[in-house]
Formats: sequence, C-alpha cells, structure tokens
Amino acid sequence: MNSPIANAHPSTTEPTNAPFDLVVIGGGSGGVASARRAAAHGAKVALIEKDRLGGTCVIRGCVPKKLMMYAAKFGRELAEAAPYGWTVDNAQFSLATWQANKRVEIDRLEGIYNRMLENSGVVVYRGNASIRDGRTVMVDDLTEIHAKRILIATGARANRHAVPGIEQAMTSDDLLDLSVLPKRLGVLGAGYIALEFASIMQGLGSEVTVFYRDQLPLRGFDRGMRAKLADALVAQGVCLMPGSAMRSVEKQDHATVVFAGDTAFEFDAVLNATGRSPNVHGLGLEALGVALASDGAIAVNEWSETSVPNVYAVGDVTNRMALTPVAIAEGRALVDNLFTGTQRTVNHASVATATFTMPPLSTVGLTEEAAAEQYGALRIYETEFRPMKVAFAGGTSKTAIKVIVDDASDRVLGVHMLGDDSPEIIQALAVAVTMGATKADLDRTIAVHPTTAEELVLLREVSRRVTRA
Ligand code: NDP
Repeated sequence: MNSPIANAHPSTTEPTNAPFDLVVIGGGSGGVASARRAAAHGAKVALIEKDRLGGTCVIRGCVPKKLMMYAAKFGRELAEAAPYGWTVDNAQFSLATWQANKRVEIDRLEGIYNRMLENSGVVVYRGNASIRDGRTVMVDDLTEIHAKRILIATGARANRHAVPGIEQAMTSDDLLDLSVLPKRLGVLGAGYIALEFASIMQGLGSEVTVFYRDQLPLRGFDRGMRAKLADALVAQGVCLMPGSAMRSVEKQDHATVVFAGDTAFEFDAVLNATGRSPNVHGLGLEALGVALASDGAIAVNEWSETSVPNVYAVGDVTNRMALTPVAIAEGRALVDNLFTGTQRTVNHASVATATFTMPPLSTVGLTEEAAAEQYGALRIYETEFRPMKVAFAGGTSKTAIKVIVDDASDRVLGVHMLGDDSPEIIQALAVAVTMGATKADLDRTIAVHPTTAEELVLLREVSRRVTRA
C-alpha cells in the first residue's frame, strides 16, 4: 500500500524553506516511534522510507511470523481437542487462505502506521535516503532535505555470507510469502529465526531439519533451558543436527542441497537463518565519517549518538539488542532527550524476550551462567510438569520453569520458562524483576489457581546451589 500522505518528490531540488528539527531515515518500529514522539514534542519532523511503513516487524517479521505460529498452533490444538469431546475430522490447512488473510492484516496495520504519522504531522518522503552532510539528506538524489538532526533507523536484513551458495537459500522474508508448503525444509542456524520457523513449519506439515554448529541451539540463552527446548523440538518432530559442519548450499534440479560434513542433504527449500546484518549501505556513512563497529553496525553510545555530531542511530542498525521494543525505547529516549531536555537512557539489562517456538521459550534477566559469573552464589529453583490441559489430553509435553536467585541478597536475577503462554507470563513478571523483586516477594504472592503461572510463586524447595566455577 502506498502512503496517502507522501508528498514524496517535490518537483524541484530546492531545499525546504525552514530546516526540519529531525529527519528520520527508516519507517520501521524504531523510526516511526521516534518520529511520532518527536512531533508530539512540537518538533518539525520528516521521515524517509523506501519500502512499506512498518518495517521488518510489521511487514516481514514479528507480526506475520506470529500469525503463522497461530496457524501452526491451531493444528496442534485440533489434535488435542478429541479427549475434550470434540470431533474434528478432516481438518486441513490452506496456506492460500492464510496468505490472503495475512496480506489483508498487514495492509491494515500499514494503514494504521500511515495514519498515525499523518495525524502527528510527520512529513513522509518515499525513496532511498543518502546523507550528504551532517544537516542534509537526499531522497533518491532528487529531493534535498535539510534538518538540524538526523536519526538513522534503517534496521537489518538477512546475512548472506555464512557458507558458499547461501544465496540459494530462502530468507525468512521469502518463507513468510510462500505459496506452497515445502515438504522438506532445511534450516541453517539455530537462533531465534531458525527455531521459530523450524517449529512453525513442522507444525504446518513440513519435515524440518535444523543444522547448527554448536551443541545446543539458541546461543546466549540459559544453557539448561536450551537443552530443554532442543528436547521439545525433537518431541515435536523437528530433526536437529547439532555440531554440523555446514560447507555449502547448492541448487540442483528441483531441490536445494545442503552439504554438511561428508553428507549431502536434499530439501525442497532451505532457510538461511544465520543472523542479520545492519542496513548501512548507500547511506553515505563512510563519507560522513560515521564510525561502524566490527560487525558493520553503526557504533553508538548510550545516548544513541554516533561518532558524528547531530547524527543518531537506534534499533537493529546499531549493535545493541535487535528487538522491536528495544528500538522503540531507544528512539523515544533519544527524542525525549533532544526535545524535552530529559537525560534518559535505555536499560538493556533486564529486557524480557521470547522465542516463539512451540512451546515458546521466554526469559527475563540473567542466565544461570551469567548470574554465577556476576554474583558468585546462587539458589536455583526449578520445576517441570505436564500442565493440566496437556495431561488431560494424554500429551507428554512439559512446562519448565527456572528461577535464579542471588543467595546473598535474595534478589531474583533471572526467570526462564519453556511452555505455552510463557511470553505473556514473562512480560508480566518482567515488571517485578525490573523492580528488583526478591524470592521472598514471589513467596508472599498468592497464587491464581489453577494456572501454569502459579508455579512461579509456589517454588519453595531449592533445586540446586551454584557457586562461581
Ligand atoms: P541469531 O543471531 O539469533 O542467530 C544466528 C544463528 O546463525 C546462530 O545459530 C548462529 O550460530 C548461526 N550462524 C551465524 N553465522 C554462522 C556461520 N557462519 N555458520 C554457521 N552458523 C552461523 O540471528 P537471527 O537471524 O535468528 O535473528 C536476528 C535477530 O533478530 C536476533 O538477534 C533477535 O534479536 C531478533 N529476533 C527476535 C525475535 C523475537 O524476539 N522473538 C524473532 C526473530 C528475530 P552460533 O550461535 O553458533 O553463532
């Protein structure tokens, strides 16, 4: 959908009369949130976007991914419904129906983004932005925009360098636009994107094989929970190939072949989920002197300032945390500071996050490994159980909870949960963890019964004590 508000290319190359207070490059979550907040503070704001408003999260990321996860989850729930008395014969999944409805929903959300910007008075330009100097940005080399400050929020895109031939593989963008479900799907990598799509696609009916170089998937998460997630994925039917020495990807006739170790594995489609690279090309950063970090991301300080005065960056184009709510928080903190004189920074330490696998793995705070390193003596509280809904249906999948407590202060340092609804539960618990809740605070909280989440306030027995190695 094209923006109804864009006066995209004024016919002249004359600069606007008065400079904008802020020009934002990128109309994704971080850029739009920053532009709107700045406009709400009374700033004159321009935003440049070359594609659809909403960016990765809305158009080709979090939102369609979660809609696809819901589609997969219905399949599982239909299978679980029989012991509850339901007859669900001949249930079929239609990818075409899902695609059509997804397009309508994404168009609707994009329309909301358009209207929000329009209502807030942000001027939207359509085209490729390149920074000419610290106060001038060109749109498609045609339109010159003058601004007192420049904010770069251009996000990231799939890496294409992990192994030779990787360009033969699909990216998550392609997978979300599939018209035919691949019977056999190979997945390269075992981060968020790899595991979410592995679980979703298996749930929709593909046979999925995941190749990764570590022994456990999801590096950076709590080690024990990574092992439990691996078990849950295997129980779902996903084939995991840990310790894979991936060598190359090749297109052969109708198949895509992954060469790993001494073996060739043939698939109908292969997903490249080996990480994402910041979108910095073509912005003119080198000429401007904007410093990049070793991974190619824009280097920023805690104030989202780049190495060039009046040029800022937030979100996935920087190398902090590649999460939508983080980009939004960084952008809002920045423009509050610029236009209202606050001095806010974003605390990246206790950001809750979830991997939307089936079941999802959700986390807030430190892993056991990091907590032991930083605090020395820990109490670990763990439980694993079959939730009522699963047990009644004769299912075997378990919910696992782990609470990590600093022994000296009793403070809850981390909570990790593998199980249905864990993202919703962790979001609420993140408030308590951010406030510095202690284990005693959890203990004096009365349970909501019967729920899965009540187990979080009923953990009395210490499962293990851990000291720094
Ligand atoms: P991640 O960084 O999470 O995972 C990349 C995966 O690719 C890892 O398993 C990594 O292995 C592997 N890999 C990287 N390079 C190579 C290589 N050369 N050879 C073999 N394997 C390689 O990236 P994603 O693309 O999954 O996600 C990008 C970001 O997007 C994430 O950091 C996350 O913040 C965000 N995101 C968040 C979601 C959510 O909140 N639910 C959903 C999707 C994305 P190794 O671990 O061994 O390095």
